Amino acid sequence: MTSTELVDKLFAAGDLEDREFLQLLEDDDPALLDYLGEAAGSQARAVFSAQIFIRGLIEISNICLRDCYYCGIRKSNRKASRYRLTKEEILGAAEYGYRAGFRTFVLQGGEDPYWTDERLCPLISEMRASFPEAAVTLSLGERSPESYRRLKAAGAERYLLRHETADPGHFARLHPPAQTLAHRLKCLDELRALGWQSGCGFMVGSPGQSARTLLQDLRYIQAFRPHMVGIGPFIPHPQTPLGRYPPGSLKDTLKLLALIRLIDPYLLLPATTALATIDPAGRQKGILAGANVVMPNLSPPGVRAKYDLYEHKKSDGAEAAEHLDKLAEELAEIAYSINFGRGDSPLYEKEKKLYV
Ligand code: SAH
Repeated sequence: MTSTELVDKLFAAGDLEDREFLQLLEDDDPALLDYLGEAAGSQARAVFSAQIFIRGLIEISNICLRDCYYCGIRKSNRKASRYRLTKEEILGAAEYGYRAGFRTFVLQGGEDPYWTDERLCPLISEMRASFPEAAVTLSLGERSPESYRRLKAAGAERYLLRHETADPGHFARLHPPAQTLAHRLKCLDELRALGWQSGCGFMVGSPGQSARTLLQDLRYIQAFRPHMVGIGPFIPHPQTPLGRYPPGSLKDTLKLLALIRLIDPYLLLPATTALATIDPAGRQKGILAGANVVMPNLSPPGVRAKYDLYEHKKSDGAEAAEHLDKLAEELAEIAYSINFGRGDSPLYEKEKKLYV
């Protein structure tokens, strides 16, 4: 089949044979990418209308015990200027965001031992009590099943933990031996079993990635059935072991966004900050290729530059929570608008009905 026919087949059936996915992953004809992106964009609009959910991202700490080879806040980066927000700063950011219209807060950070369950649970409960209409999402890395249980009992409902790659050999190129894909996936299974709205994801163009590893990522997404998938281009950070590799490309990221959207029309799929960082129109292009979420930065402006996962990470303009007007303008240019709701996953709504 031609690649265009494969896009039609994927649009209609939501699935392809391995060799067919590989053909699409390896075909870099720009006309194909346009066709694929349009199909994915129309699929997203069929489910979510031309509307984008917003999440206020609060980066609570850049102190991290892990040593991921790609990440600027890894433990061994002695040049990183470390910070940790106080509970009051986090609540203040949420308060500001709530007034601006955010109904989801994402607490993201390095694996900072300070943030024990004893400290996180009261913070989460207080956020839920102060802003009852807002959801709390966590993105705090690998924790124990007991911790995931307690954090959920405190009122958090969604958890983002990118699997980074579904290929164990590739995972080992990106992480030190103490970190394994098996453990990462175990955490994701535990989150899902505990009833979290769960998000996996990966970087596009990370060193060692291939059409074969990407196929495994797509198969993992189909098997795990996440509520959310976060993907963005790999961007080298000079103070990391992978700092000399080239960044992932805009076109590959758009292709993966579109393929993932066609695999699952109901997914929450952000146009990420990394995508907006590599191309000034990255966010708009990502949305047109099927993304339906953006996560503006709601961290106190003074610490934003310090959460430098990668070089030149964008946190101004429409990427900043205080400029929702700019985001709204950008969206209006492509005939989209902000949806100010909580933006729960439609899959989650369906699952809830099945289980109550
Ligand atoms: N400690 C949390 C949050 C990590 S930061 C956790 O482990 O889940 C969120 C995501 O940023 C990571 O999952 C990774 O995919 C991405 N990231 C880190 N370094 C990056 C880089 N150099 N380029 C692009 N994305 C990067």
